[in-house]
Amino acid sequence: MSAAPIHPDEHALREALITTALETNRRGLNQGTSGNVSVRLGDGMLITPSGVPYEALRPEDLVFVDANGHWEGSLRPSSEWHFHRAILQERRELAAVIHVHSVHASVVAIQGRDIPALHYMVAAAGGHSIRCAPYATFGTEALSQHALEALRDRTACLLANHGMIATGANLERALWLAEEVELLAQQYVLSLQIGGPQLLDDAEMERVLAKFRDYGPRERT
Ligand code: 13P
Ligand code: ZN
Repeated sequence: MSAAPIHPDEHALREALITTALETNRRGLNQGTSGNVSVRLGDGMLITPSGVPYEALRPEDLVFVDANGHWEGSLRPSSEWHFHRAILQERRELAAVIHVHSVHASVVAIQGRDIPALHYMVAAAGGHSIRCAPYATFGTEALSQHALEALRDRTACLLANHGMIATGANLERALWLAEEVELLAQQYVLSLQIGGPQLLDDAEMERVLAKFRDYGPRERT
């Protein structure tokens, strides 16, 4: 029996997910078969298959994983489906999750460090710092628990000795944040080489967070 036809809306979502995944490579955030991308669909998610280079992906290759972590089909979902599932189930305001091994985020994560308030854009991830989750083996439930905790009140985190996770209300926002986090990590690494960053204080970060809640283009009333 052949597979059921894919609804046009779902087909467009599958294509958008592949475009986003390819874009992580094009923007220098990812390479090879590292990284993975997911997007909310119904009560579950679509996710990149494990170990398949993004260039080879066809819309039908993306794996639907339901809310309980079940999937069907010949391709296995990304080994990191645990944290993708946990984030999308726990954080109902989010709809997309991107994981990459970008160089500077990974370098900071190799030190097990959080990214502190070295630039006001740190607030773009929702707080005064971007936390680094403790190390756990890739693809494990333990890594998923650590990631969820590091993402508390945040939309991005580092993963010790591994990489980063960026999330968003849609694929575009998650990709935008992944690029911002990588840039902040690069700024952190460079500033450490010239004496270390001068950090913004808590009061200033609170001001920035308040401004971000009200930031963006809007029509004049
Ligand atoms: P997958 O190919 O299984 O998605 O794994 C890549 C990765 O980055 C694991 O952390
Ligand atoms: Zn990884």
